Amino acid sequence: MSQETIFSKIIRREIPADIVFQDERVTAFRDISPQAPTHILIIPNKLIPTMNDATVEDENVLGHMMVVAAQIAKNEQIDERGYRLIINCNRDAGQEVFHIHMHLLGGKSLGKLIS
Ligand code: AMP
Repeated sequence: MSQETIFSKIIRREIPADIVFQDERVTAFRDISPQAPTHILIIPNKLIPTMNDATVEDENVLGHMMVVAAQIAKNEQIDERGYRLIINCNRDAGQEVFHIHMHLLGGKSLGKLIS
């Protein structure tokens, strides 16, 4: 049984968050500690702790997260200039919240991928 995180409470709207999009499969909200002018997290409503836990059954929701990210980038008017999508997995990547989340970062020049 996977352990729920604070993100499950955000999905259920039990704690405040700046939710920019939600449907039956995913929720997207602004990161509480933004690293760029636009910093939004896109998460599956289903709890998947890390990328290592993703299965073939999750392909649909994982693909949907990317399509939603692109739509949000358009809404944020960062699609033409560009943006970056990141999913951190486990310790070396610095994953802090064990509920898969895709970071959508943009609104400034983001530099090289790894600094
Ligand atoms: P990661 O290091 O990939 O696990 O990223 C976790 C992200 O979640 C960080 O960028 C945090 O700032 C963000 N975060 C943690 N708690 C909240 C929250 N309650 N609302 C919004 N973002 C959060």
